[in-house]
Amino acid sequence: MHRLYANDDISVFWDSDKCFHAKKCVTGCPEAFDITRKPWINIDNAPTAKVWQAVSECPSGALTCTYNHDVTVKYDENGCCSTAFCDDKLIGKCEYEAASDGWVIYHTEVDPEYGGRGIAKRLVYAIVEQADRNGVKVIPTCSYARKVLNGN
Ligand code: SF4
Repeated sequence: MHRLYANDDISVFWDSDKCFHAKKCVTGCPEAFDITRKPWINIDNAPTAKVWQAVSECPSGALTCTYNHDVTVKYDENGCCSTAFCDDKLIGKCEYEAASDGWVIYHTEVDPEYGGRGIAKRLVYAIVEQADRNGVKVIPTCSYARKVLNGN
């Protein structure tokens, strides 16, 4: 399972395939990470710094966190993409094609002016989460999506 949680400050992505339930997050920030609750992550329940600290102590890499930097990332079902906007300006896009064996992410791009802020990662995660919710596999072919999802 892959889930993306966002508020005004941060975006937290959880990859259950990597989680080995060490519960560091639960003990570090029980207000935000509570396995007795559904959904078990609620990042609005604790101060951002506390959530960030708990995520940074996740030993498996299942949790990752980025600051939003006033950039909004949205999933666009009809456009088969996710988009990033700063105010009304389109500054990033991640695109996929629905193939018979899954969603093929073939292009991820962020305006270089906005680089280094984790925006491309958020764009990829937004598609991965939706694919997961639709029970579809993600096949990353663009180099950035491959790096985010497979580490290569
Ligand atoms: S700290 Fe990481 S590995 Fe441990 S339960 Fe939380 S998400 Fe899973």
